[in-house]
Amino acid sequence: MLGDEIVGRINQLGTISEAAEHLARVFLSAEHRIAADLLMSWMEDAGMAAHLDGIGNVCGRYEGNRPGLPCLMLGSHYDTVRDAGKWDGPLGVITAIACVADLNRRGVRLPFAVEVVGFADEEGVRFSSTLLGSRAIAGTFDEAVLDARDASGVSMREAMAQFGFDPVRIGTAARKRSELHAYVELHIEQGPVLEQRNLPVGVVTAIAGATRLAVSLSGLAGHAGTVPMALRRDALAGAAECIVAVEQFCGDDDAGLVGTVGAITAMPGATNVIPGRVSFTLDVRAPTDDHRRLAVAGIVRQIEAIGKRRELSLQVDITHENRTVPCASWLKAQVAEAVAAEGYAVFELPSGAGHDGMAMIDVADVAMLFVRCRGGISHNPAEHVASADADAGACVLLRFIENFRPLPSS
Ligand SMILES: [Zn+2]
Repeated sequence: MLGDEIVGRINQLGTISEAAEHLARVFLSAEHRIAADLLMSWMEDAGMAAHLDGIGNVCGRYEGNRPGLPCLMLGSHYDTVRDAGKWDGPLGVITAIACVADLNRRGVRLPFAVEVVGFADEEGVRFSSTLLGSRAIAGTFDEAVLDARDASGVSMREAMAQFGFDPVRIGTAARKRSELHAYVELHIEQGPVLEQRNLPVGVVTAIAGATRLAVSLSGLAGHAGTVPMALRRDALAGAAECIVAVEQFCGDDDAGLVGTVGAITAMPGATNVIPGRVSFTLDVRAPTDDHRRLAVAGIVRQIEAIGKRRELSLQVDITHENRTVPCASWLKAQVAEAVAAEGYAVFELPSGAGHDGMAMIDVADVAMLFVRCRGGISHNPAEHVASADADAGACVLLRFIENFRPLPSS
């Protein structure tokens, strides 16, 4: 049973933290180094050659039936958010190592190499820039980020030097498309859908793109006691109507559209003053770019109509947009085959959360396997995966690896 060993290692890695009270392991910290050393020792025990690349990713390589073959790359990240759970990221790295260890124990060599990568930074906690590890491997690392500073004023350039790394060497982490057959990541779902379906694993269709907007509505501030209701231009009441409209618009969609207003500020923000100006954020995600763009346009039209009817002036700005990353159909089909062969119903779902595949798509075709997590809770110490589900994920991944057939052209 691979699940028990995986859970044991998740617990062991989960103790490597900047604080005893909560789990936090950020890029280029002392804990980053300790965790990297532990992961590399597990990789070596599994029969892999392991090294730390130019940005701090741990890379393990298990040769195929002859040396130097292109690889099937597996992996996930081993940095965490602050007050994190133990499973987000490490489950994918530790499971992949367990699968290779199993191949190694049985002396199985495949017609391709298997590489396992633990990405140094996916969450972007320290320098507010995500996917640093996978971008370095994909060759899309943005050097401007080196000047970003953490909360204590240390630049990434300085942090790299303290870690014993030379930023000039980040480029050496980049891989060529011809070296990779595919990138496949196992990750916890971070949502409640698999639990609701009573399934241990799910096949990811795409990593949803996201559009973030900043919306502000301006009406007229006034005295809460003297301005009659009919004469008000209350920006906060208008924003409330907009928020409900977003909820209804997305609720009426049955193709995976989600929209969230997560932050709001009202000015001047006093008990006895009618709010004159309100700003709120809007985050919209969908499994395809077309779907998301159409939805954003539809939502903005509704917000405009609400503003017009309430005589509120409106400003809408797109503050962030990232593309949808579809999982390659040939690869997804092989993951689905492995799921079915292990005796589970094949269930496909989009990933609403971002993952390293968003960067890896620039260097390889991408697929993902989700594992059920309790209550769909993630980015929280209550994050939990049942040992049996960790085992199910490992069995599916191992079967996938052993039956993997590269695209003839790759
Ligand atoms: Zn993650």
